[in-house]
Amino acid sequence: MKAQFNTFIPPIRTLMGPGPSDVDPRILNALSRPTVGHLDPAFIQLMDEVKLLLQYAFQTENQLTMPVSAPGSAGMESVFVNLLEPGDKVIVCQNGVFGGRMQQNVIRCGATAVMVQDAWGKPTDLHKLEDALKANPDAKAVAFVHAETSTGVRNDAKSMCALAKQYDCLTIVDAVTSLGGIDLDVDGWQVDAIYSGTQKCLSCVPGLSPISFSPQAVDVIKNRKTKVQSWFLDMELVMAYWGQGGKRAYHHTAPVNSIYALHESLRILHEEGLQAAWQRHADMHLALKAGLENIGLEFMVEETYRLPQLNLVGIPDGVEDAKIRVQLLNEFDLEIGAGLGELAGKAWRIGLMGYGSNRKNVDYCVNALTSVLK
Ligand code: PLP
Repeated sequence: MKAQFNTFIPPIRTLMGPGPSDVDPRILNALSRPTVGHLDPAFIQLMDEVKLLLQYAFQTENQLTMPVSAPGSAGMESVFVNLLEPGDKVIVCQNGVFGGRMQQNVIRCGATAVMVQDAWGKPTDLHKLEDALKANPDAKAVAFVHAETSTGVRNDAKSMCALAKQYDCLTIVDAVTSLGGIDLDVDGWQVDAIYSGTQKCLSCVPGLSPISFSPQAVDVIKNRKTKVQSWFLDMELVMAYWGQGGKRAYHHTAPVNSIYALHESLRILHEEGLQAAWQRHADMHLALKAGLENIGLEFMVEETYRLPQLNLVGIPDGVEDAKIRVQLLNEFDLEIGAGLGELAGKAWRIGLMGYGSNRKNVDYCVNALTSVLK
């Protein structure tokens, strides 16, 4: 007998974990528009607009700004494989899971990662970073995560970049969770290479990674002695397709409909305005804080460096982590995140990202937690 496969109808969830976040219906609508060819003149015009909108979101004039056709991890990999060559040295700051992934990328490029370690839940200590810069005058770059999704900590990206620049290092920033949610100024802070993801504060579908390289970073790429080991992520090749105006050469088949979705999500951010979007995330965090503290829950990250879009909340003694999350999912269709690594079982991660950073979600989450923790 022929097997039967039914149409997949996903449950309607409220996504308040570490991402993906709730996708704006405007974006889902854009995604479902008819597919055109990836070299269609109409699509190329759209690509130009996506570039302009990404430059706005990142606050940069960098010409090499575009979405990589793969998730945030591919954006991370693009940055490292293009900028590093075997024998290079990079100072990597780690205070959570994703700094560790940067270290893995550096090592796989045949480079050395000098680690600046800080406790999970604390920001990178600028003094430690400066000590590492002094001790490693041959370092090529400083790499760090702006918004550590595993802990809910905001690293002081502006000061870290300023410090790295004093020591003539390139700056590499992970903005997967920060773009659209908190203050980010690529040109103002002298960021040389940055990558993000579409599924966090841009509230777009997962699967694309906006990236941007400064002119200085482009020079480094152009003057490589060795070939980039990844064909797919080699910026010189990708740029022939994503290049500014002019002729476009086939490199890979772009995820056309996902680019429609990204375009719409960036239009939404542009309509609201960056400052207004950041303020909304800050306001919603305060509303969540008031509601959760009212039922006795505590935030684990100090307010001065707490991310509004990713809230690390302590699990009260005697409460079973997984049981509560399953109950929230089954009874309320509400997803919150588990703690990662050393925070597993000790904390929940509650996301208030992009479209999902609204009063309705805050109240829904507080009421659901109040009910299941009774
Ligand atoms: N960097 C950070 C800070 C992240 O939060 C994530 C994903 O959660 C990534 C990198 C990897 O992104 P992706 O899962 O889209 O590959």
